[in-house]
Amino acid sequence: QSKAAGRNTWHFFNKTMQESIIARADMERDLRKAIEDNQFQLHYQAQVSSSGQTLGAEALIRWQHPERGQVSPFNFIPLAEETGLILPIGQWVLDSACAQLKAWQKNPLTQDLVLAVNISAKQLHQEDFVEQVKATLKRHDINPARLKLELTESMLVENISDIITKMNILSKIGISFSLDDFGTGYSSLQYLKKLPLNQIKIDQSFVRDLITDASDRAIVRTIITMSHSLDISVIAEGVETVEERQYLLDNGCTHYQGYLFSKPVPINEFEVLLKKG
Ligand code: C2E
Ligand code: MG
Ligand code: MG
Ligand code: MG
Repeated sequence: QSKAAGRNTWHFFNKTMQESIIARADMERDLRKAIEDNQFQLHYQAQVSSSGQTLGAEALIRWQHPERGQVSPFNFIPLAEETGLILPIGQWVLDSACAQLKAWQKNPLTQDLVLAVNISAKQLHQEDFVEQVKATLKRHDINPARLKLELTESMLVENISDIITKMNILSKIGISFSLDDFGTGYSSLQYLKKLPLNQIKIDQSFVRDLITDASDRAIVRTIITMSHSLDISVIAEGVETVEERQYLLDNGCTHYQGYLFSKPVPINEFEVLLKKG
């Protein structure tokens, strides 16, 4: 780097800004390489009924970086969304999840499991999203009723009528929808009523301090009551203690997910947990 270029750069950015711009460019380059070299993996976290039966799992992406080790999705999904790289990554996730569902369909112990996949806003807003999902289901020859798509409230602000249309088509073929991180966005109750949702997912920020924070308890009870009136199921995420589980159970929560039951684990470990019951 020439002295002049260095001085120019220094002129416009302070060191921290410059470092973060470089880090971002590095990360974007690494993310492209990760797609090419298949450095991603899915982990599976159990979703259980109120009686403790495992009904399925949420697929959560993991990036095994060759030098940095495992990178959290919190640290690369936002960049993937900004750069559009979430499209090939999201398609990889959907494809891998469907391949897993196909394998599960062959075994009586696993054939009824439902697999939840996180969908990002960019993916959902693609014109051919519905066709992509249908084609993936067909390619793997799986029952659409085994696939659940997790959307977040924040992605339901733009083009809501287009989203409702897409959800209705997929819903009619048997795919279910869960509304992730519920309570952290701004969904209007009007929209909640219009969307073909099968489930609301109580955000883990409300579950974390459930035992000590009275307002979190009130919010959680309200969400559960609302899900009952909408006639859809409600899953609590981030359940870590038996006390949290008991409180949720006493207040009518129908589904549970969290470290109390299992951390997200690689497929072989998940299947070991299933066999243990
Ligand atoms: P999310 O979909 O809300 O997933 C829940 C996150 O909470 C996961 O973090 C999970 O590991 C973590 N978690 C589960 N149980 C507990 C618990 O009991 N205690 C605590 N403290 N945490 C718990 P993870 O795997 O790091 O994923 C973070 C976020 O990244 C996800 O939040 C989701 O928004 C996004 N993400 C993950 N995989 C994908 C993917 O394949 N596609 C897209 N678009 N986003 C993904
Ligand atoms: Mg999720
Ligand atoms: Mg969540
Ligand atoms: Mg806690």
